[in-house]
Amino acid sequence: MSGRHEKEKGVNVQVLLRCRPFSDEELRTNAPQVVSCNEYSREVSVSQNIAGKHIDRIFTFDKQRDLYDQAVIPIVHEVLEGFNCTIFAYGQTGTGKTYTMEGECKRSKSGPKGELPPEAGVIPRAVKQIFDTLEGQNAEYSVKVTFLELYNEEITDLLAPEELSRVALEEKQKKQLPLMEDGKGGVLVRGLEEEIVTSASEIFTLLERGSAKRRTAETLLNKQSSRSHSLFSITIHIKEATPEGEELIKCGKLNLVDLAGSENISRSGAREGRAREAGEINKSLLTLGRVINALVEHLGHIPYRDSKLTRLLRDSLGGRTKTCIIATVSPAVHCLEETLSTLDYAHRAKNIKNKPEINQK
Ligand code: ADP
Repeated sequence: MSGRHEKEKGVNVQVLLRCRPFSDEELRTNAPQVVSCNEYSREVSVSQNIAGKHIDRIFTFDKQRDLYDQAVIPIVHEVLEGFNCTIFAYGQTGTGKTYTMEGECKRSKSGPKGELPPEAGVIPRAVKQIFDTLEGQNAEYSVKVTFLELYNEEITDLLAPEELSRVALEEKQKKQLPLMEDGKGGVLVRGLEEEIVTSASEIFTLLERGSAKRRTAETLLNKQSSRSHSLFSITIHIKEATPEGEELIKCGKLNLVDLAGSENISRSGAREGRAREAGEINKSLLTLGRVINALVEHLGHIPYRDSKLTRLLRDSLGGRTKTCIIATVSPAVHCLEETLSTLDYAHRAKNIKNKPEINQK
């Protein structure tokens, strides 16, 4: 029996750029368009005088399904083969991170044959792909999900069953869920609710519950959702028989991360570790930038331990994992500075050459 699929895989980080359409307000005020994308050369240019950036894939004003089919289907396939994969949405608040990850519809509202509405985002599509595949296979499987939020380096379990009240939440915030090494290069969150699910619709119900809890917590505790990260993880075990009659267990995990707005760190903050203003520092986002820089520059020390997010995702950045960063930008001139920052970040992340020997330091 093997605890992990034996197939050796090359590792990579895929970076996509998604430019949202103009908002009604931008259309009304005739906001000039400053982002142009050449989908053939995969070059992005911002205004006339700024050099282009090469990104793996570019999507402008696209359909949710196109992005999913082109970029995410192969990643979910990897997870079903027993690998850890992470999909991040990174970008300025208001550029489409939540639209990309969740979509605009009620997630659970699928059609009579279980088909998803056109606006469904990456998460519901991935859930559907996973269950369609598992249900079509003749193998035993189990699926577990966790859903958490990170705000000011505190973890909130979005699937915890207790009634949500201000008191309960404040209590919970005092007793932060602690992180522990799992002995396999990853970390566990002690006390985090792990729900075993048997169908896509069960996951949709849990997602609804978690999102509702996130919204209520935001109102009760005066949080700003633009400063929090959400991490939804799906872990799949599949028991298969090899042609030689041996039992093989494949275990893969898909992490789906809606990051805090990138305006929470400045351009120089992402690059040099300096934040624009003390009040704007978002430690996890900043550290994610540093981890990416350290991986790109092949530094001996990768500072995974410096923030909760990077500790949680340590087994998903570098090493034998696949990572997809969907960077989201606005086409409008008033977002120019943040758009450049996002492009810098995306461009540097694209150049990560994973070297397993440096990733576990
Ligand atoms: P963020 O999560 O980055 O703060 P949202 O996902 O809330 O941003 O998107 C902001 C607004 O832009 C929403 O009204 C959303 O519907 C719209 N939007 C974002 N991306 C797209 C897109 N690719 N196509 C159509 N509308 C989009």
